Amino acid sequence: MQQKTTDELITQEMLLKIPYRWAAGEYVGEFLRELRHSGRIYANKCPKCGRFRCPPAPVCSRCHTRMEEREKWVEVGPRGTLLAFFVAEQSFLVPTTGDMLEIPFSVGVIWPDGAPVALWHKLEETNPDKIKVGMRVEAVFKPEEQRQANIFDILYFKTV
Ligand SMILES: [Zn+2]
Repeated sequence: MQQKTTDELITQEMLLKIPYRWAAGEYVGEFLRELRHSGRIYANKCPKCGRFRCPPAPVCSRCHTRMEEREKWVEVGPRGTLLAFFVAEQSFLVPTTGDMLEIPFSVGVIWPDGAPVALWHKLEETNPDKIKVGMRVEAVFKPEEQRQANIFDILYFKTV
């Protein structure tokens, strides 16, 4: 009878630094340009099934129809309603920065005024007792000269 052996799992911890550039594309690129230059948040709508996307997308992920083009985008927010949230109280390595997450850290799923679409972003409030589903929140942008055309041009959503 053959005896099963288990190979020892040898691991090594390391932090990889892999610089890369990701082309945002026409739709997300325009969305990010608007965040940087006008401080406006846009969504677009599928003409077939009515689904909204934020950031706007060229093709509906539900029915694969071409989404509405730039001239029909709708401005959403900066205020909205909190649909769900979580508060991280345990730090972990943030894969995009290589830094440990500063805790507590909260993330909300926000339904911005203007279109039925969910937008995930950081919340200013980190006390779970002060965060309520259904509460009103508002996007707080970096000063214009500090914006870099990325989603973190919105610093967080504050309670209003
Ligand atoms: Zn659709």
